[in-house]
Amino acid sequence: GETVRLLAGSQTISSGQAVVKELVENSLDAGATNIEVKLENFGLDMVEVCDNGSGIGKAEVLHVARPHYTSKITSFSDLCELQSYGFRGEALSSIASIAHLRISTLCSNDEGAGRQYDFDSMGNSVSFKHVAMGQGMTVCVTGLFKSVPVRRQILKSAKRCREDLKRMEDTLLAFGIAHPRVRLILKHNKCLLWQKIPSQDYDSNLSLVLGPSITQHLTPISFSSRDPILKLRGYVPCPGDGAVVSRSAPDRLFVFVNNRPVAIKQVTQILRQSLADAFPSQSGRSPVAVLHLDVPPSALDVNLDPSKTSVLLTDLVRLKSCYNFRILCVQPSHLC
Ligand code: ADP
Ligand code: MG
Repeated sequence: GETVRLLAGSQTISSGQAVVKELVENSLDAGATNIEVKLENFGLDMVEVCDNGSGIGKAEVLHVARPHYTSKITSFSDLCELQSYGFRGEALSSIASIAHLRISTLCSNDEGAGRQYDFDSMGNSVSFKHVAMGQGMTVCVTGLFKSVPVRRQILKSAKRCREDLKRMEDTLLAFGIAHPRVRLILKHNKCLLWQKIPSQDYDSNLSLVLGPSITQHLTPISFSSRDPILKLRGYVPCPGDGAVVSRSAPDRLFVFVNNRPVAIKQVTQILRQSLADAFPSQSGRSPVAVLHLDVPPSALDVNLDPSKTSVLLTDLVRLKSCYNFRILCVQPSHLC
């Protein structure tokens, strides 16, 4: 049993970035407006995510790290109505199998002090005590991949550590764009690496996340179609002022489907190509663009891989033909 769990767990959770992503998704699903991520030694020694969300009740918390426990969907058909990031019930269980998992929570329905639980690698709670805390949940993951020495050894190299930290920052950046009202904080070895304060509106939030020097060169686009049902809105470089925004290579293309940060190769390729066509003289520079696609949940398959980052859109082919990204990039004003 333990070996099977270890094998599956280390596949779902491939790095510290995966831990951060899964825990932040859970905090957002729990309605948190304040999420703090603390890392020690690039997450290898500790990843802690503290939120002010709903927390979880006494009865349920004992199950959260068991395989396939989820409070988010009850049947496969619920996937067609999916509103949450999570639905596989795999993250906490996988984390427990490859690291030490400690959960503290105070649930809105429970009174009194918070409760802290330690879990063993099978996802069973092995110790319990009362702790002082506000409403929400704190998940603390220590000794990542201690039981998978090869993985830990590889991730420990200085290069991998830096790459993973960068990916963690990018992950938070994407969630920061998608959730204007949420405060996000990232600390590494007690230093504040990045933070975003809450914002009431999308535009000022985007400029908080990307920086005004970038957003001043972006222009809004929007488009919607009834067949297939889809809405698209986003920000692309201004064609007029000739400045292609760049922060660092590679390009920064943020794509969201139903507010989920995703990697859809086809969409990214179209976007990258049209940006390159629109700004030929700027080739080599790194464009920034943000694209939000909203489709009916039934037109989207997010269950392609455990990380839920690759997704399938049923209407991608039609999307390509009904929506001309090239026009979008060269003359965004036509669509506004
Ligand atoms: P999933 O997100 O797919 O449901 P997870 O393993 O990530 O699976 O989480 C298991 C369950 O633990 C969730 O369904 C939810 O009920 C609970 N949970 C996890 N994180 C939090 C959190 N930050 N606040 C409240 N409940 C949480
Ligand atoms: Mg989850």
